[in-house]
Amino acid sequence: MTGSVAVRFERNGGRGCYCVFTMKINEHQGRDLLAAYGIPVPAGQVIESLEGAASAFKAVTGGQTKPLAVVKAQVHAGGRGKAGFVKLVGTPKDAEDAARFMFSNRMISPQTPAAGLEVTQLLVASAVDIADRPAEGTRAAGKEEFYLAITTDRKSSRNILIASREGGVDIEVVAHDRPEAIIKEPLHPLIGLQEFQARAVAVKLGLKGKHIGQAASVMMKLAKLYIEKDCTLAEINPLVVTSAVGGVAGAVTAIDAKFSFDDNGLFKHKDITSLADPREENPAELRAQKFGLTYIALDGNIGCLVNGAGLAMATMDIIKLHGGEPANFLDVGGGATEEAVTEAFSIILSDPSVKGVMVNIFGGIMRCDIIAQGIINAATKFKNADGSLGFKVPLVVRLEGTNVDAGRALLEDARSRIPTMQAGADLSDAASKICAAVAAGK
Ligand code: GDP
Ligand code: MN
Repeated sequence: MTGSVAVRFERNGGRGCYCVFTMKINEHQGRDLLAAYGIPVPAGQVIESLEGAASAFKAVTGGQTKPLAVVKAQVHAGGRGKAGFVKLVGTPKDAEDAARFMFSNRMISPQTPAAGLEVTQLLVASAVDIADRPAEGTRAAGKEEFYLAITTDRKSSRNILIASREGGVDIEVVAHDRPEAIIKEPLHPLIGLQEFQARAVAVKLGLKGKHIGQAASVMMKLAKLYIEKDCTLAEINPLVVTSAVGGVAGAVTAIDAKFSFDDNGLFKHKDITSLADPREENPAELRAQKFGLTYIALDGNIGCLVNGAGLAMATMDIIKLHGGEPANFLDVGGGATEEAVTEAFSIILSDPSVKGVMVNIFGGIMRCDIIAQGIINAATKFKNADGSLGFKVPLVVRLEGTNVDAGRALLEDARSRIPTMQAGADLSDAASKICAAVAAGK
């Protein structure tokens, strides 16, 4: 099922940092992975409609004297707790009410697009009673919630364990305001995380007695999982200590799970690619994948059609430099054939916010004249949403490379047939022309 794996840029909380191609999974799938590696996680059930809520509540709380469950929206974004999409419930009716709210509202948090995300799946899990943490120095009393993650640190070129005593919600704020509250421990490139390191981190987190060994064991297992599954992020936030009940000591337990995986490693992990959820992916991005195009939707209004990922990034940068906002990242790859360009045009223009398109192609082995003919054919045959043929929005084409003069001559000849088309002499000229044309059209 690799075809349905969405390749996307990690968007750094939607703020547009183009970093790594990754695949994400839902929390309940992440919890299953943790459990498979022996990390304690409360049991849960996934529901896709309101009807399942009450019975899921009964199933996951069966045998508890004081039944308590947590209903959680399964979307590829965090910040659910604060948005009201993580709810503790004590009765089947409360579980149903929480489910009704989540199914009928979009989840909006700083990590989602402004319009939020539709919720189609909920996890109903057995809830834990989190142990109290007394006031410490200037910090008010709270709960025993910790942050734990493994990721790759580009600065030190190492995988690192990141941990904090101030887990739960708002870890980003803690990292920003009080970086000293974040513990970082590098993993050895060959031998990975070592037991003594994990125990030292557990002690630094303020854990005591048996909880030190339990937390260290969670860290070791998480590090193993991270390496074996080619993750780019394996995060448990929060990792909690549960309350002691009736003389039985509390235990270190994971109650949230967030994973992303390195796209370049996915071919080794059919078990991971089979977890991809097309409902959580952008439909245009999935469609592009079927045609071997790499397409990432962004928030601007200038569509970009480019060959090569580096050139695509340079194109987005130069558009921004000229005051425009790119609507997408689109890499047609090496070919830039008529078929690929036609498909790329229709994917770009299926986004109603696109008010102009910039094509930036470097002809290498593929000659510019062939590419130009492909662009012209695609643009003249382009079918608009109203059924009419031919390009309607401004189009600026910049070609460079093998046979560029012949390519430009073809574009010049075709101008009468594609009236909205202009040629860009170079990257800067093309960017300023498309930005001006789109601004004029407003
Ligand atoms: P996120 O906000 O999307 O990261 O969702 P989380 O799963 O991390 O839940 C947010 C917060 O809800 C946690 O930090 C806890 O404080 C609380 N919470 C979640 N599950 C439980 C639970 O089983 N028991 C208790 N007492 N609190 C929970
Ligand atoms: Mn969380």
